[in-house]
Amino acid sequence: MEGKLSIAMEKQAFQTEVRQLLDIVIHAFYSDREVFVRELVSNASDACEKLRLKQLTESSIYQPERELRLSITTDEEKRTLTIADSGIGMTREEIVEYLGTIAHSGTKKFLEMAKEGQSGPQDLIGQFGVGFYSVFMAADTVEVCSRSWQPEATPVRWVSDGQDGYTLEEAPEDTPRGTTILIHLKEDAADFAKKNRVRYIVEKYSNFVSFPIDFNGEHLNTVQAIWMKNKKDVTAEEYNSFYHFIAHTDTDPMSYMHFSADAPIVLNSVLFVPAENPESMGFGRCEPQVSLYCHKVLIDGKPENLLPEWLRFLVGVVDSDDLPLNISREMLQDNSLLRKISGIITKRFIKHLEELAKADADKYESFWRQFSRFIKEGVVTSWEHKEALGKLLRFESTFTEPGKLTSFADYISRMKENQKAVYVLFGASRAQLENSPYLDALKQRGFEVAFFTEGGDQFVVDSLIKVDDKELQNISRANLDLPPLDDQPDSLSLDAEQAKSLTDWLTEAFKDKLSRVSTGDRTSSAPAIALQGQNDVSPEVKAYLKAMGQTVPESHPELVLNPSNPIIQKLAVLQSENPELAKLLADQVVNTSLLLAGMLDDPSALASCSQKLLEKLLHP
Ligand code: ADP
Ligand code: MG
Repeated sequence: MEGKLSIAMEKQAFQTEVRQLLDIVIHAFYSDREVFVRELVSNASDACEKLRLKQLTESSIYQPERELRLSITTDEEKRTLTIADSGIGMTREEIVEYLGTIAHSGTKKFLEMAKEGQSGPQDLIGQFGVGFYSVFMAADTVEVCSRSWQPEATPVRWVSDGQDGYTLEEAPEDTPRGTTILIHLKEDAADFAKKNRVRYIVEKYSNFVSFPIDFNGEHLNTVQAIWMKNKKDVTAEEYNSFYHFIAHTDTDPMSYMHFSADAPIVLNSVLFVPAENPESMGFGRCEPQVSLYCHKVLIDGKPENLLPEWLRFLVGVVDSDDLPLNISREMLQDNSLLRKISGIITKRFIKHLEELAKADADKYESFWRQFSRFIKEGVVTSWEHKEALGKLLRFESTFTEPGKLTSFADYISRMKENQKAVYVLFGASRAQLENSPYLDALKQRGFEVAFFTEGGDQFVVDSLIKVDDKELQNISRANLDLPPLDDQPDSLSLDAEQAKSLTDWLTEAFKDKLSRVSTGDRTSSAPAIALQGQNDVSPEVKAYLKAMGQTVPESHPELVLNPSNPIIQKLAVLQSENPELAKLLADQVVNTSLLLAGMLDDPSALASCSQKLLEKLLHP
């Protein structure tokens, strides 16, 4: 090489902008400077990819038989790192343009922001990256030897210390096709000449580069980026083993979704549902496990805002060519492209679950048993998807056998002609709900009631409000949309006068506890039923507010008496015959109803009125 130096060497100055940029890059202390390795490896991989495409259209290519590959070499003694590829290479003109000016739009933006001086240079390097020029964060000098794919091009050698400019000269005739970048590292960057350090960085960012990587003469195993392939060309085994690799496990996933789009955004993604809910194993809340890639090169292994929180159980990869490789964590926080990607993937995954439910109900059910909490969390937190998510909910009902699940769609298909709403009831267990006096009025009309028995369900149903335009009604509430019964059992009922006198008396006697007392057919088994006022917060929400130390709004329960019940009939008689006993009996009825409804704030009130009643009965 030396022999030729004096004859053909030419000195060129960097474009002013490049000089400014390099000045910032060299003098900035940037803790993440390992990213320069990623930049150079990604350029090398791009160069191979470009040559692969050239081979499809060009008939004459220099060294057509030369295999497309990357080669990375560390030399600790000489404090050098070399990154080479057998890709497309650069002609003299190209090198001048690409490595002497700023073409890269991200880099331009970087410079503009740096000039405006809004934030420190290190933040900016993190935000925009500076592509090839990032090498000067770690390099004293960089030598680039390149030979273009074009057979007649002369190989060229470019050398720079990243200060003012670079030298250009012809490279030896035996320079092979492609580009070799030899980096003489700064003293404080000697780390990047260490085998293990570099290997770690390459494996971190470039595991899925599609070309073989030679590392110090040894083949570095890369994994196929199956998400970039056509679905039809990937087998079930390949999906499974890819999942084993990225999830560090040897169990197969429960389900996977492979999704590609070209418009409006170039997007390739493979997402896996693990076999088990990771949060059910007591490890606490899981971190995001879907990594973000730009054309197979890692941008962020655990991006916080790529997918909504409730999808944190998913494992996989999202890859978009449209994202700048150097987008930083801070940028990811507020990036409209990322928000779009998130919306598209979320929608697509919901569709995947809908399809799964249709195609394989058993499999969907096992998904539901593991991951129902996440879907419910989605209903509550994700306004734009809640309707679709509502259709994915599963529950038991008065029409299902214990342990069997149903959906709102099935529920709606079974609705009676005169039924206007979808009826739901909340409680601790199916067994408890089955005994609930709230069911009476619905059973009598032949209406189905959906059971919700998990903590938080009240919030889920409250957020849903409607399914398929059918209102969701909590049957423990006061005003339900119920059609009248055809065959009222009047024979046993109170007459209108008795009913009025009884309800007037009770309304007055319990005005501190109840907002209204009436007779009706809301229960046929109990003497009376306590209902939540229409605008009251439910007992569950109340308990939550209390736990959070917030003020709990006052409730206005209503009481509906069952006029066919012997206790109520006796009460009507005692009201005038033995007012003292009647009051004790009424106390007992009211408190029991409130207790059953979960609305008795002080259960000891019930105990003391039971005692008084017993005493009275034993010693009249
Ligand atoms: P970007 O990769 O985003 O275009 P870079 O600063 O990383 O920006 O690189 C600038 C340009 O230099 C590339 O677009 C490419 O044309 C050229 N280049 C860089 N490295 C190589 C390489 N190894 N082989 C061929 N061309 C390269
Ligand atoms: Mg690049």
